[in-house]
This record gives sequence, C-alpha cells and structure tokens, in this order.
Amino acid sequence: MLFLYLLSQRLMEGQAQPLSLRVLADPLGMSAYMAGSRYLTAAELNAGALPITGLTLVSRLLWVSTALALLALTYRRFSFAERGVSQRRQRKLARQAALQAAPATLAQAHDARLPAPHFGRRTSLAQFRARAAMEARAIVKSPLFLILLAVAFALTLANLFTASGWMDVPIYPLAAVTVPIVDSSFRTILVIVAAYYGGELVWRERECKINLIVDATPLGAWALMMPKVLGLSIVLLATLLVGMAAGLLVQLLSGSVAPAIGDYLLWYLLPGAVDMLLVAALAVFVQALSPSKYAGWGVMFLYIVVWTFGPSLGLEFPLYIYGSVPAVPLSDMVGTGNFAPAAWWFRLFWTASALLLLTAAHLLWPRGSEQPLRSRLRRVPTRMTGGTIAGIALSATLFVSSGAWIVYNTRVLNAFHTAAQEQRYLADYEKRYFRYARLPQPAVTQVQLDVALYPSDRRAEVRGRYVLANQTNTPIHEIHVRLMNPDLMLVRLDFPGARIERDDEAFGYRIYRLDRQMQPGDVRTLSFQTRRQQAGFRASGTEAGITPDAVDLDTLALTPRIGMSDVGLIEDPALRRKYGLPEQPLFPRLNDLAATKLVPSGDAGWTTADVTVSTSANQIAVVPGQQVSHRIAAGRRTVRFVSGMPIKNLIPIQSAGYAVKTERSAGVDYVIYYDPAHRWNVDRMMTAMRASMAYYGAAFGPYQFHQVRIVETPYRQGGHAYPATLAVGEGIFEMDLSDPNQLDMVTMLTAHELAHQWWGHQVLGARMQGGSLLYETLAQYSALMVLRKLRGEADIRRYLRFQLDRYLSGRRTQVLAEEPLASVAISQQHIAYGKGALAMYLLQERMGEDAVNRALRRFVDRYRFTVAPYPRSLDLIAYLRAEANSPEDQGLITDLFERITLYDLKAVGPTAVRRADGKWDVTVPVTAKKFYANARGSETAAPLDERIQVGLFAADPRGAQFGKSDVIRLGWQNVRSGTQAIHFVTDRKPAYAGVDPYDLFIDRNTADNVAPVSG
Ligand SMILES: [Zn+2]
Repeated sequence: MLFLYLLSQRLMEGQAQPLSLRVLADPLGMSAYMAGSRYLTAAELNAGALPITGLTLVSRLLWVSTALALLALTYRRFSFAERGVSQRRQRKLARQAALQAAPATLAQAHDARLPAPHFGRRTSLAQFRARAAMEARAIVKSPLFLILLAVAFALTLANLFTASGWMDVPIYPLAAVTVPIVDSSFRTILVIVAAYYGGELVWRERECKINLIVDATPLGAWALMMPKVLGLSIVLLATLLVGMAAGLLVQLLSGSVAPAIGDYLLWYLLPGAVDMLLVAALAVFVQALSPSKYAGWGVMFLYIVVWTFGPSLGLEFPLYIYGSVPAVPLSDMVGTGNFAPAAWWFRLFWTASALLLLTAAHLLWPRGSEQPLRSRLRRVPTRMTGGTIAGIALSATLFVSSGAWIVYNTRVLNAFHTAAQEQRYLADYEKRYFRYARLPQPAVTQVQLDVALYPSDRRAEVRGRYVLANQTNTPIHEIHVRLMNPDLMLVRLDFPGARIERDDEAFGYRIYRLDRQMQPGDVRTLSFQTRRQQAGFRASGTEAGITPDAVDLDTLALTPRIGMSDVGLIEDPALRRKYGLPEQPLFPRLNDLAATKLVPSGDAGWTTADVTVSTSANQIAVVPGQQVSHRIAAGRRTVRFVSGMPIKNLIPIQSAGYAVKTERSAGVDYVIYYDPAHRWNVDRMMTAMRASMAYYGAAFGPYQFHQVRIVETPYRQGGHAYPATLAVGEGIFEMDLSDPNQLDMVTMLTAHELAHQWWGHQVLGARMQGGSLLYETLAQYSALMVLRKLRGEADIRRYLRFQLDRYLSGRRTQVLAEEPLASVAISQQHIAYGKGALAMYLLQERMGEDAVNRALRRFVDRYRFTVAPYPRSLDLIAYLRAEANSPEDQGLITDLFERITLYDLKAVGPTAVRRADGKWDVTVPVTAKKFYANARGSETAAPLDERIQVGLFAADPRGAQFGKSDVIRLGWQNVRSGTQAIHFVTDRKPAYAGVDPYDLFIDRNTADNVAPVSG
C-alpha cells in the first residue's frame, strides 16, 4: 500500500496533470500542504501561517470519511472466530478429492515397473530448465507482482503520454526522452522485486517444509541455487520488457517518431538487466546467509536505503555502493556521448563482485535441517571442487583487474571531486584571489584563434593571440591570467615584456608582472596554446562539450581569461557561513558605482575576432562572424570567420553533422543549423527570427551583423545568446507543438534569444545588482511583443500565467533575500525572467507600447557598444520615467522596479439586471488590497489607488475556447483599497465579470479575479 502511494505520488510529481487531482489523490495530505503553501515566503512559513484552501478542505474531508468508512467496515467484518477456508481453496480441495476418488487402475498399471532414472548431463539440464521455469512461474503468478506490474505499466504510459521537457512543453517521444522516464518509473519496482523475491525464492522450500526432500535429491548446491537466480532473472527481464513495451508503444502511437528498438536495447534493456541481476545476486547471497527471511529483507532494505540516499550523504564515488554506476545522460543528437564507457566498466566490476557473492552463496548454501552459519562455514572446504576454485579465480581476477582499471582511470588519469570538495575548492579560490577582483586590468580588444577540433578523439587544440588595451585611467603593473575550466590545459603562454610572479597550478591562476607598466591607452599582446582532451573515462565531470557527433564549446572552456571576478564563486549565504567566507555577498550592490567601471565578468567586454576552426570533414563548424574562407583537405574541413563589429569576448565554437536551412532578407542571412532528424520546429524558428528582427529593428534600432544563426546543441534544454549566434538546445527542437492550444515556447525562446543581440550584445550592462534587468527582463519584454504579433493574446496570457507561478513559487524556495527588479541578482531568475516579464508587460499596457519602446530605443542609442562606466538598472529606469507622463505611472514604475509589490484583487458576486429598455445594468463589486513586502517576505499594507482593468465577458476568460468576440467590455478603471462597486450598462448580458481578468498584476490568488454573473 505504502509503495503504491509513494509510487503514484512520485509519478504524478512534475507531471502536467492539474494540481487539484494530485491533492485529492493524496490520502496523507502532503500534496494539500504543498499546494496550500506554494506561494508562501520564508517569513510566512516561519510565522506558521497556512491558509486552509477549499481544495485542502475537500481533500481532507474525502480521506477522513474514507478512513472512517473503512474503520466501520473493519469493525463490522472483524470476528475473533477462525477464518474458514476460502471459496477458491474449497474448490481446489474438492478437485483434489475428486481426483483421488477416481479409479486408479491406469496409474497402478504404470506402477508395475519402477522408473529407471538417468543422471546424465541432459537430465540435469532438463531439471535445471524445469526448475528455473518453476521459480519464475512462482513469482509471475503472485498477485502482488501482477498488481505492481500493471500499476507501473499504466502510470508509465500516463507519464509517457504527458512527457514534457523545458517549461513543461510536450516533447516528441524520442528514445533519449522516453528511456529516462521508463527507467525511473520501473527502476524502483525492479529493485523491490529483486530484493523481495530473492528472499521468497531462497526460503520457499523451507517455508513449505519440503526442504529436506529437495535437499536430499542428488542435486549439487549450484543446481539448487542457480535455477533460483535464473528464475528471478527471467522475471526481472520480463519486467524490463514490459517497460520497454510501454516506451515503444508510445513511440508507435505518436506517429511522429519511429520505434527505436535498438536504442531501447542499448540504453535501457541491457544496462537495466545487468543492474537488476546485480541486485538479485546480492539478494540471493544475503538470504543464503541470513538466519531468517525477514532478517534478509531487512538487510536488503538497508541496502536500498544506502543505494538511494548514499550519494547525497557523501558516498558519491560510485565504487562505494554495490551496483552503483556513473549516470549516463541521453541525447538524441549524440546518444550516450562520452558517458557509456565508464558505466560499462563499473558494471563489469560489479558483475565480477556478483559472481563472487554467488560463489559464496553456493559454498554456504543451507542444506538439510537447520544449520548455523558457523557449521556451514566449516563445511566450505568439502564443497570446493575444481570447477568452483577455477570460478573463484576467474571472478577474482576480473574483480581486481577491472577495479584497478577503474581506479586508474577515475582517480589517477582523471580527478574525482565530491560536491563538498568542489565547494571547498571554490571557497579557497575566493579566499586566495577574490581580493584581486577590483584590480585594474586591461580589456581584451582583439582575439585571434586557431581552433583544431578532433571530435572522435574528444580533443581540441587551440593557438591564440590577444591584444590587451588599458582602458582604465590608471597604470597597470600586473596582469592576472586564469584557466577557468578544470579540463583546460595551458601548453604555452608567451607574454613579451612580462615575467611570471606567481604560478598557482592548483587554481589555474597566474600573475604576470610587467617590466614596464601599461599606461592608460597602452596596448600589449599575449599569445598562448591550450589543449582540451579527456584521457580515459571519468566517474564524474565527463566531457560533454566534445563528442564524436558534436562539439559545443565556448572560449571560456578553451582559452585563458584575463582578470578576476565573482563568476562561479559561492553565493548561497548558508554555504558561505559553512566555509568561513565573509557574510557580505560578492556581487556588487546597486549603489557601488566603482563596479560600473569593471569589465563585466572580468574580460567579457567588446572585442573583434578572427577565428579559424578545423574539424572533421563530415561536420560543419560555426563561429560568429563573416565566413571568409573554407577548404577541405586530408579529411579536415577548415573555415575562417572574421567579426569586425564589436562582439562580447565570449565566443562559441560549434561543430556537428548539421542540416542547414538558409533564408536571406534585407541584407541579413538567416541560417539554422540543426540535426537532420529534428526538422519539426525549424520553420517556426525561421518565422520567429524574421518577425523578431523586423520588430526589434523598427523599435530598438538596427541589428549589428549581416547574419544570424541558430545552432542546435546537444544536452541543452533552453537557449543561450552569443554574438550573432543563438545556441538552442535540442530540447527546443524536439518540442511537440502540434496542439494549436499549446503555448508556443519555440517562438518565445527564439524571440528572447534574438532580443539579446540588443540586450547584451549592443548594450553591455555592469556586472552588479540589477544587471539582469538590462538583459533578461528586456529580452522577455521584447519576446512578448513578438509573441503577441505572431500568436495573439491567448499565448501571452498562458505565458504570463506561467511566469506568475514561476515568480511566486520562486519566492518560497529562494536562497538569497528577495530584491526588487532594480537590484535583482543574477541567480534570481524567478525575478528577472518571471516577475520581469509581468512588470514590463503591465508597464506597456498602462503607458503604451510606443512609449516603452521609445525609452528602450533611447537607452540603446545612449549605450550602444560603450565601455566603462557600464550602465546600471537605474539608468534604464530613468529612461522609462522620462516617458511616464502622470504621477500614477511614475508610482507604477516605483512599484514594479524599485519595490516588492503584491496585490489582492477580487470580484465578489457581480450581478446583471435587465432594464426597461432591454439593456443590462451590470454591477461588479471589487475588493482590492496592495502590499509591500520586505526582503524576507513580510508584508505591510499600502494604499491602492490606480487604474486596473475591469471586464465583462460572454465566456470565462480562462477557458480554452475564449476569444476576442467574448469580450463585452474591457477598460481601465480607478480602483482603490477596500470594496467598491463598478457599474456598466451593456446590450448583451455578460456571463462573467472580473477585475484584472488577464492577471497583469501580481496576485497570489488570481482564481477569484473573475466570477460568474448572477441575475
Ligand atoms: Zn536570456
């Protein structure tokens, strides 16, 4: 029961079904609690406030009454009398009696001569087969097993049909998507079956009290034990096959994806079978030694607990827990990438361990009447036959050699770090070098790279040259050079006119002292050679950037970087305390004007670039800039890209066997590089790119490049905007948008990433609080405007509802104290993306799209390609304020960007009364409240007096069928704190009425904004 409960809750978790179903289906009320406290902040949770929602109440009433009914039933049915024989058993007994009563002549005729048994190889093989089949049947026929299987199959199917990827958008059921779903749904069941039936099988004879008879037969201990192992294996394999059938069935039914039997075999069935056999072997071993079945189960339960929670309790190295294997993430572009070898070497090691366990079980197998373990141990030498010894020798050799090979690869050739070790490393890094974050450093103004990619070798060789310019107004004495990626190796670094003062290899940090200091405006050059290559295999941190099928890297992973910054250091206050780091955050505060003079992220300022990439001839390489040369020779393709326009010094290098779609319009090449199997959303992306370019060009000023490229990248889900290049994860290409009511995240993401060509690639904001407002919030706003043009209001509402949920639930789990948009931290994505989208959308609804765009255009014009001091969020807000014509709009800007503002808007029982002239008198009673919250989430009431939309509708504005024609009246009304009635006269009778019907204001309960009209 408990298992079914946990399983059902786990399977519903994170799935797209309505929250209410999950709340109602949960007898323990955990989901009700989670739903009720979903939008509570830390301050409110500490205060113990938990509103009892209607849903919670219904759920509790439902289950309490169910519990009472069950109790009553039990009371009525319970009897102290001994239970009679069940009807099924009565029928069985009757059949047996009938059989015995039948004339026995035939049987007696056969008894006339005794059988002449053979004990040859063929007989034992037949016996073996028969016994294995019998053991398997014993499990398969048990009702518990069948129920488990049926439940798992049904829930897996449900999970597969609602499979969703990034932002909960449905995704095509490719094997790389569905295998993890099937695997996680079935894995728990498989482990339980292996652990549970391991005990059942080992103890069955003893429980039926036929052990003495079986043990007296002339069978070796192997012949007693191996059929059990094999029987269990057959059952596990059958269970795996049921999971595979669910996956293949969904692929077959989808019509859009061919059933990938080969992938299922290699990625699911084969590894799953080995993993489960390992558990089964352990179960048989434990039970063979255990004094009772229950003790054995206890041990297995302990094992499952360690197996599940061990990694989070510090047992992270997979060799510490029997049967554990490094994870193998799947990608439809690159398959198992570089991850499979490590997993299979670990499986080989565990297989050798399992063989040793089974041999031990064989040697210690309980036979005959009860024997304590000690006497069985004493008998081990007598069971040691030549074959057994050979088996032990073979398994032990395999165990030692594979174990040594794993340790050599994962701890000698490569390093293994636990999460705690990595945090300690970052803390030490900060203690040693953060003091240099404010040191004046030159900017990188020219980058010249020669990148040789060897995808099948998992290797990249880079030669490069930087031109460094002192753009500060102080002389520079020393230059700090860092390797920010642990997999990067510095082969050589030439820096004329400088000598190494410090070379800290452990942290990849070098300090060069200049022979002659760099005066403001001075220029120097630095050249280097680096290598990136994975040797052998790793237990963690496996190379995902270079696989035989695709390369997806940027210069952070390939080149040395100039200057120190806070990028990547520990931000979480609790962790900072733990490692003895100063309490104050590293991220510069909004009023820290000195921070506006620093090049963002240390050296990600403006540069020109000249990059030559060579890769294998069957792949296409893509780098920002104009392609100026291209040749293929000796199996290698070499391409040179030059970018004369300033680009941010973070350059992507990508290469794969892409299909290419190109369009040309108004002097710009639109190119999409995609996996040939992922054609689905390519046209949609092209449309979104061209619409975005048209809107942004008109609204914010010209686009700076002659080409814009979308490059599909393996493993990634979302997107990342590089100069002229949008790296878009395969998860976006695999989105299933065939349902027209589905929110079009492909268009939204494309438009968002393209908007960064203005917000981040024309205007570079200072790296400090509020920086994300200039990047992410503006990209969200721009994309919303494009989405509205291409898809209409319905998609906007779906998207904003999603972002409202993201913001409000993000407040519950946030690690850092909440900040207003003007001072948002980079990691506070629920604010910059979620609240930011809502704030900008509301602003343009209130002030007008043109006014907002005018402000943005002036902001771009002022800061296009400027260097230090870089703009802050307040600079943008000043441009917005310049467009706000009323004190009310100024107040709105303050509330949206400089405060944490929440509303509680509600329509209470709207009515419509028919007038004598046939028209309708409509009254909408509105209650409204406004709050300001502090950083910890406690709220104080604030006076409300502003324009909020009030609308009358012929249909529910939240309904799927709701359209423009259903709007009877919609307009801005003055709404004050407290209750007020708003009157309308209409020709049509409205069915629904409400305040802020489209959820533009941040309101934790938007369900009560709209109510049905009575009268
Ligand atoms: Zn973005």
